[in-house]
Amino acid sequence: MITRSISPTQPPRWQSLLAQGVQGVDELLRLLRLDPAQAPYPIDRHSPFPLRVPRGFVDRMRPGDWADPLLRQVLPLGQEAIPTAGFLLDPVGDGPSRRPGGVLHKYHGRALMILTGACAIHCRYCFRRHFPYSEAHAARSRWSEALAYLRDDANINEVILSGGDPLSLPDEKLTELVAALAEIPHLKRLRIHTRLPIVLPERVDERLSSWLQNRRFQWVIVVHSNHAQELDQTVAAALMRIRQTGAVLLNQAVLLAGINDTVTAQVDLSERLFELGALPYYLHLLDQVQGAAHFEVDTERAQRLMGEVAARLPGYLVPRLAREAANDPAKRILPVRWAQAHEPMDEYSGEPPPRR
Ligand SMILES: *Cc1c(COP(=O)(O)O)cnc(C)c1O
Ligand code: SF4
Repeated sequence: MITRSISPTQPPRWQSLLAQGVQGVDELLRLLRLDPAQAPYPIDRHSPFPLRVPRGFVDRMRPGDWADPLLRQVLPLGQEAIPTAGFLLDPVGDGPSRRPGGVLHKYHGRALMILTGACAIHCRYCFRRHFPYSEAHAARSRWSEALAYLRDDANINEVILSGGDPLSLPDEKLTELVAALAEIPHLKRLRIHTRLPIVLPERVDERLSSWLQNRRFQWVIVVHSNHAQELDQTVAAALMRIRQTGAVLLNQAVLLAGINDTVTAQVDLSERLFELGALPYYLHLLDQVQGAAHFEVDTERAQRLMGEVAARLPGYLVPRLAREAANDPAKRILPVRWAQAHEPMDEYSGEPPPRR
């Protein structure tokens, strides 16, 4: 094997892969050998939250399949523009938790920094799709405000780097931020919420591993994968590299109608995550964000689905079914329920998207 030394001036490979992501609906459909004229539902080519998906993630989609669970997470549908009662712009109540410098402080002991609005992928169900990033995120120029806030509250012992995707920032910036956070004595843990190791596993390179090994902190990396089909060998290698830094590795997923709302999909996801060294943490009920109503799974069905999953798996492979509400002191964990006899928990729920 030829090992090349990293030149400090050469931009890392992941940055070009990030820039080369697919951004056109027609290109995506061409790559998947799907004929737009045959689309089973109207596609929105002009969505204000445009299509974006890394090519390596497209490679994991099944060609010729409109129902592919990875494709459905990224393809903009006409349906998203139809307003649905109860589906809001700020469904989780981020607004009142906003603090100076792009900090969200909602729960005791933990504060979250929105570092960027950028993501490698645009997930159609994203609850931050309408978030006012340009005014509210912790841009480099506002770090001092954020750091002052964190320094002033000695109850905060964990900082969560979030976004957008915090790992879409270059390592130089992240290294600088970690060094500044390390100066705050009451911080013990640094947590990163990121989908990049899943959708662009090349992001987990040597440079990333090196600052993740800062021993000042205990590290928790929470990745975001919704389906076992996302977890191929490239992702396995990335997660292995994260584990080798000593970080605790967890996964959060969103329960999505037609994508992962079956017993088989959930069991396969948990089993595959474990093979790759990650434990399932949360399975979030969909936040009721405008444009995502067609992904919603009925709460009772979700609880019975997780009852079936709990009946099949060891407890440590059953994610907590969680719902976020505006004024709660923690995320609300919903109990599992036992399915009724003959209830088909292995068929997708939800209305199929309207046919064109
Ligand atoms: C989800 C969330 C957290 C973290 O909650 P945990 O239950 O510790 O995972 C922290 N802050 C905000 C604003 C959140 O939305
Ligand atoms: S990666 Fe996360 S923040 Fe970015 S669009 Fe997807 S769900 Fe939203």
